[in-house]
Amino acid sequence: MNKNSEHGKIRPPVNYPSPLTSAASSTLRGLLAAAVAEGYHKIGQAVFKPDAEGFFLCHAEDVGREDLEIFHNPHDAAALAINDDAGNYRPLKTGPNLKHGWLLRVASLADLHLALDLLYPAALANWRSFLRNEKIASPLRDTVNRQTGMYRVTGLITDEEAQGIVDSLCSPGCLRRIQWPIPSDAEPPLIPTKEKEIPLLCVDACSLLIAEARRVVKARLGK
Ligand code: SF4
Repeated sequence: MNKNSEHGKIRPPVNYPSPLTSAASSTLRGLLAAAVAEGYHKIGQAVFKPDAEGFFLCHAEDVGREDLEIFHNPHDAAALAINDDAGNYRPLKTGPNLKHGWLLRVASLADLHLALDLLYPAALANWRSFLRNEKIASPLRDTVNRQTGMYRVTGLITDEEAQGIVDSLCSPGCLRRIQWPIPSDAEPPLIPTKEKEIPLLCVDACSLLIAEARRVVKARLGK
C-alpha cells in the first residue's frame, strides 16, 4: 500500500494550504475563491488573475503580449476552447493545444468560474473531490469490464497493452494526471501537484482511450 492511500482513498498531498482543504467542504465557488486568495493562477495551459476590472484569463504563453484579441463574455471561453492555433478541432479539451492570441476579461468570481469550467470541464469539481479525499477514480479494468456493444471487446485488453496506450496517448497528448490504476486491485497512483496550479485530474478513462483499447485488442485478435 502506498503512503498516500488506503483502501481506495486518495489523500491530498500534505502541502496543500489548510484554507483550501477547508474550502473543499463548501461549494465549488467557495473553493475557487479560496484558491484565488491563496494565489492559485494556473490551470492547464491557461492563467487567470485578478485585476482592477475583475479577472483576466489568457494562454500562459501569452502573458505580456499586447496584441491579444479581447473578449468580455465568459461564455466566449467555450468557443476559444474548440479549435487549436491551426483551426483544427480539439477533441480533448485537456490536450496541450489550447489556442493562443486571446484575452478574456470577466467581471466577477462567478464569471471566472464559468469560464474555467468551459475551458477545462469538471476540473474544479474533480479537484474538490480530491481535496475532500473522496474516491472518484475507477480502475481501468473496471471501466473496460463495464463496456457494452462494440466496446465490450476492450475487456480483453492486457495490463501491458493498457500501459502502452497510456504511454502513447495520455502522456504526450493530455494534460490530465491519471488517478486510476490499471488493475482492479492496484493502488491509485500518487498525484504530483504543481505550485499554485489547479490540477487537471483524470478520474475515468475517456472515450479516446476506450476507442484505442478497442483498436489494440482487435488488432491482436486479427479482427
Ligand atoms: S484517459 Fe484521461 S489522461 Fe488519458 S487521454 Fe483520456 S482524459 Fe486524458
